[in-house]
Amino acid sequence: MAPTVALAGNPNSGKTTLFNELTGSRQHVGNYPGVTVEKKEGTYVRIHDGFRLHIVDLPGTYSLTAYSLEEVVARDFLVDQKPEVVINIVDASNLERNLYLAIQFLEMGIPICIALNMIDVAKKRGIKVDAQKLSSLLGVPVTPTVARSGRGKMELMDSAAQIVQEPHQVTPLKISYGADIDPVLSEMEKEITDSDFLTDTYQARWIALKYLESDEQIIRKGQKANPDLSNRLKEMVRKVSHHLLNTLDTYPEAMIADQRYGYIKSILKQGVIYHKYDRNRLYSSDRIDKVLTNRFVGPLIMLAVIAGLYHFTFTYSKVPVGWLELFFGWLGSA
Ligand code: GDP
Ligand code: MG
Repeated sequence: MAPTVALAGNPNSGKTTLFNELTGSRQHVGNYPGVTVEKKEGTYVRIHDGFRLHIVDLPGTYSLTAYSLEEVVARDFLVDQKPEVVINIVDASNLERNLYLAIQFLEMGIPICIALNMIDVAKKRGIKVDAQKLSSLLGVPVTPTVARSGRGKMELMDSAAQIVQEPHQVTPLKISYGADIDPVLSEMEKEITDSDFLTDTYQARWIALKYLESDEQIIRKGQKANPDLSNRLKEMVRKVSHHLLNTLDTYPEAMIADQRYGYIKSILKQGVIYHKYDRNRLYSSDRIDKVLTNRFVGPLIMLAVIAGLYHFTFTYSKVPVGWLELFFGWLGSA
């Protein structure tokens, strides 16, 4: 079978639109095993060489924790089926929120390439994103796309194909989760590694993070695999939770989310995103629009423009018509 590419992204990021663009009529719809979540699959065929990729449209999610059925389905698919590459579609007009999911793929060590979608919408809102800069800071390919028109589709699929054809080990991204969580995280990671606790399926640090995030699915699996260690990890989490609640009035999962957003912000600040703060221009064009598109004044202005054109045509056309007559008169006699 052709290598598998999973399409992942937040709801409304353009996943289905891109999926249809890529697969055309070569698609079918089913369900993920055991659940009622819709599963769309299809085949992408590269025009110039017939290279094929099996494309799976994952459910739209904001995160990869086990807080919703969609998240569990998406995550299980990534872990069990191990797609050769994930295309993460991000909405360029909502970059900060959309990168939250991208960061989690990177933390899981999943090979991804990013489709920077809706760049047309971003542009209209005065947002400019430096795809190259983002790519170099995240260490993954980033391709600007407009899924609705198919723009960037070829380049995107070429970068996905390249990851498929030249697979390499992805080092999971390590984010600092602050002075309170980091030491506990390393301690848990060490215990997990030492006892090979679920590590044939997941990365040690990632499992520790899931315990800190109170991820029910992973904790359930851990409880089954090694109840002693699982209880010890839970106790470590309980301690740090207690401490965080007393000192900062927060919970580990909130702290972790905050730190992830902090990481994203620090990336975006390094010249990845520009807002057009040229207020005067924006405002003057808005002001002009307000008058021209006004319900009463608008049609009057249009009538005035048409009347002006009419007047201009009949008054001033005599001069160039005279020139033309002279020219053709000369041509005729010549
Ligand atoms: P999904 O929820 O991720 O599957 O998103 P959809 O593919 O259903 O897209 C959501 C909406 O965004 C639809 O109305 C699409 O037509 C629109 N859309 C998708 N990609 C683009 C894009 O690049 N530019 C613009 N302007 N609209 C887009
Ligand atoms: Mg969809």
